[in-house]
Amino acid sequence: MIAEKKGAILILSGPSGCGKSTLLKEVYKKISDYYFSISTTTRNPREGEVHGVDYFFVTKEEFENDIKNDDFLEYALVHGNYYGTSLKPINEALNEGKLVIFDIDVQGHEIVRNKLNDIVTSVFITTPSLGELENRLTSRNTDSSEVISNRIKNAKEEIKSFQEYDYLIINDDLEEATTQLVSIASITRSKSKLFDKDFIVNEWMN
Ligand code: ADP
Ligand code: 5GP
Repeated sequence: MIAEKKGAILILSGPSGCGKSTLLKEVYKKISDYYFSISTTTRNPREGEVHGVDYFFVTKEEFENDIKNDDFLEYALVHGNYYGTSLKPINEALNEGKLVIFDIDVQGHEIVRNKLNDIVTSVFITTPSLGELENRLTSRNTDSSEVISNRIKNAKEEIKSFQEYDYLIINDDLEEATTQLVSIASITRSKSKLFDKDFIVNEWMN
């Protein structure tokens, strides 16, 4: 029986600097049929970040215009900047039956959960400790000490939300964390709600 599956959503959240982007790069080598949701943000690009690859970098006016036009599935103010997920590319990828991967904050997770609960699986990612988060943010060398302090302050709040998520990954050993995330991405595609009930039942009867 070949059952056509609906698209699914995998949400990753966790303190800035815990290693979400690094982990995702490893995971992409091992999974297929996915679409990474490129967010729109008003924050400035970091060195090496590319418009249309890492983010769509826009002005506050452009972002607020998109809000007015109802272009976002969700958006939030994070660390003083707007971040949002545009609805159109997500709908297209879901219609193609893809696994749509989001790297969004805890506020965004709550919004998407409330809107699309049946097709959402979520993972909270963190470092083994706050001290290690500070080390990673410092050694990444992309943000000023003021920006890092702000991210650390937010991280202390964000960690309290980890039980809102289906899974927790403590990104200590990168290889181990990658194996865990690949397993979760794979099992996400087997959620019962992703199958067409009439099709499964009818095929099974025949
Ligand atoms: P995020 O996307 O969550 O903001 P990054 O992927 O940019 O975080 O990672 C932050 C820093 O931590 C980077 O310098 C990255 O190389 C490093 N890093 C990521 N995962 C690990 C790990 N398991 N062990 C040690 N360093 C890591
Ligand atoms: P950074 O500036 O480090 O790339 O991201 C900062 C935070 O914003 C991270 O927690 C990241 O998950 C979150 N983020 C990135 N894109 C989005 C988005 O589209 N929506 C929401 N709500 N959060 C986002």
